[in-house]
Amino acid sequence: MVCPKCGSKKLQVTNSRPVKRNNQVWRRRNCTTCQNTITTREIIDLSGVFRVRKFNSELEPYLKSKILISLLKSLDHMQNSSELAGALTDTVEINLIGASYADIITSRDIANTCLGVLKKFDMSAYVKYLSYQEQLDKRSLKKRL
Ligand SMILES: [Zn+2]
Repeated sequence: MVCPKCGSKKLQVTNSRPVKRNNQVWRRRNCTTCQNTITTREIIDLSGVFRVRKFNSELEPYLKSKILISLLKSLDHMQNSSELAGALTDTVEINLIGASYADIITSRDIANTCLGVLKKFDMSAYVKYLSYQEQLDKRSLKKRL
């Protein structure tokens, strides 16, 4: 990690706290070269934890960006949709960790978790996501026939 102000690699951790709600570690770092202070957040990279069983039974690597993109589509009626989608993606991941300790999760688990998060957040985003999932279901059903 380098200092964003001067490029020095000499960053010293001056404070560190677990953030239980987000399953993160928060750290305050000080650059010993220019005295700049930065904050970092450490999160678990789930791509090394989960594999996803798709609707067609194939396994694929877990990609956080797929969740982000699907949530972005559902939130496109909101002004700060990309910021919200990022925050909601983190919430979905926290729920996925809490829901299963298996290394394989299903696309259905992910979709249901997204729906649960969206339902509490915004009803029109929930309905959009549900409609998008139904389209995917129809497409994968056609492929199987
Ligand atoms: Zn610096």
